Amino acid sequence: MLVVQKYGGTSVGDLDRIRNVARRIAKYRDEGHDVVVVVSAMAGETDRLLNLARELVPEPSPRELDMLVATGEQVSSALLAMALNAMGYPARSFVAFQIPIKTDELFGKARIKDIATERLRKELDEGRVVIVAGFQGITEDGEITTLGRGGSDTTAVALAAALKADVCEIFTDVDGVYTADPRIVPKARKIARISYDEMLELASMGAKVLEIRSVEFAKIYKVPVHVRSSFSDEPGTMVVEEDESMEKVLVSGVTYNRNEARISVYGVPDKPGMAAKIFGPIADEGIVVDMIIQTGRPDGRADMTFTVPKLEYKRAMEIVNRVAEEIGAEKVEGSEDIAKVSIVGAGMRAHPGVASKMFQVLADHGINIHMISTSEIKISCVIDEKYTELAVRALHEAFGLDREPETE
Ligand code: ASP
Ligand code: MG
Repeated sequence: MLVVQKYGGTSVGDLDRIRNVARRIAKYRDEGHDVVVVVSAMAGETDRLLNLARELVPEPSPRELDMLVATGEQVSSALLAMALNAMGYPARSFVAFQIPIKTDELFGKARIKDIATERLRKELDEGRVVIVAGFQGITEDGEITTLGRGGSDTTAVALAAALKADVCEIFTDVDGVYTADPRIVPKARKIARISYDEMLELASMGAKVLEIRSVEFAKIYKVPVHVRSSFSDEPGTMVVEEDESMEKVLVSGVTYNRNEARISVYGVPDKPGMAAKIFGPIADEGIVVDMIIQTGRPDGRADMTFTVPKLEYKRAMEIVNRVAEEIGAEKVEGSEDIAKVSIVGAGMRAHPGVASKMFQVLADHGINIHMISTSEIKISCVIDEKYTELAVRALHEAFGLDREPETE
């Protein structure tokens, strides 16, 4: 079997942990598997480097930033190779240009374009463990790039796709994907199998187990991803293609997001071009709008409500206040005390009534819904922030997630 493994920053956070990782890899080798390993920088290292740069100059150039932060992964990969070699397991570490892992030119957020496999195959054939520095790439012109925070997951999945590995194991400090945040829902369970689409919805909601881009990559190239703990041998969560059994599960998980704020513009003249006037300048400022609701009113005007990241709330409010005056809207109002609660499940596609059940559960607990949005496999409601825990717990119980999966 060919296995690609990725170890996150905490898993290689100090020398003892690096030895631990080496021992785990050695076990796979003893079982006869070929192993390619991707490592993150040691815990805290990327932040440390970024802070150094920002202390030095207010706006470091993106090229130099990538030169700087790409070093974190070089350190951890070399150390891991040394640990393995010392244990008698031949290993070699590589940074992106040696393989090469080619990306586009977008410093700090580069996309992988191509991975050559000859060198990797040769090393494997010669009986070595191959250790690859995650997070980094090289452009056509030989510039070092990085893939964005958390990008080592993407390196691992991309390598697994290029090498047609049997599985990509992501070792991290949590033991899998849960039906809800265990800090809020003590009865949350580890999910054994989940589809790429469900994982994407859960990840984008703030279930920060896997970097979103790595899941998109895994979905396109059908790479089975196993998210598991580097501190135990327990199986974690398999992220795989959707199968029939998944469709039977109405709701796989409940998530929440408290990082958004709501802005409402009342009495917008109901004529062409108004939405473009409001959202154009917001987009120009690089502010990402999430939910948008427009309601027509009998008086020929419309009300518009939408959400933006809390961090950009003030800036967005300034823009909207200005535009509202220009277009003659009646009033602008907003709130930072909101939360978005979502239920996700592949089974929603085939089963009606999931949304109405969600609304009923919230109603039964006296929770008012401000906004609703849906996708094929997700329903989100914006509520008052103070009810977040209550809502998540109530939904978790109502959809049977406290027990084994509900099938119909
Ligand atoms: N070291 C990088 C970061 O902290 C990449 C990674 O850990 O995946 O974002
Ligand atoms: Mg990390």
